[in-house]
Amino acid sequence: MDYEKYLEEKEKEYENMCKRCGACCGAYDDPCKHLKLNKEGKYYCEIYEKRFGLRETIKGEKFYCVEIRKILNSHWKKDYLCGYKIKSKFI
Ligand code: SF4
Repeated sequence: MDYEKYLEEKEKEYENMCKRCGACCGAYDDPCKHLKLNKEGKYYCEIYEKRFGLRETIKGEKFYCVEIRKILNSHWKKDYLCGYKIKSKFI
């Protein structure tokens, strides 16, 4: 397997650790305006490919959307649901 293919596989593996609980996007607090719920009851981001940057919550709070790995050592409502926190034991 060439290195690029290997990196792609690793990135996919990392993406699949997300349980779509929406908690890191404020689902159980004041959700980001871009957080949506699909028919299966899983959360998704409607601007996923270009999500990083200044964002706004439903109540109008401004915040920066960043990579999950940058906030793993912080806490948010229902963060025990997070697949990355479970894996990294940052609970
Ligand atoms: S923009 Fe960021 S915080 Fe908002 S729903 Fe998308 S991933 Fe979550």
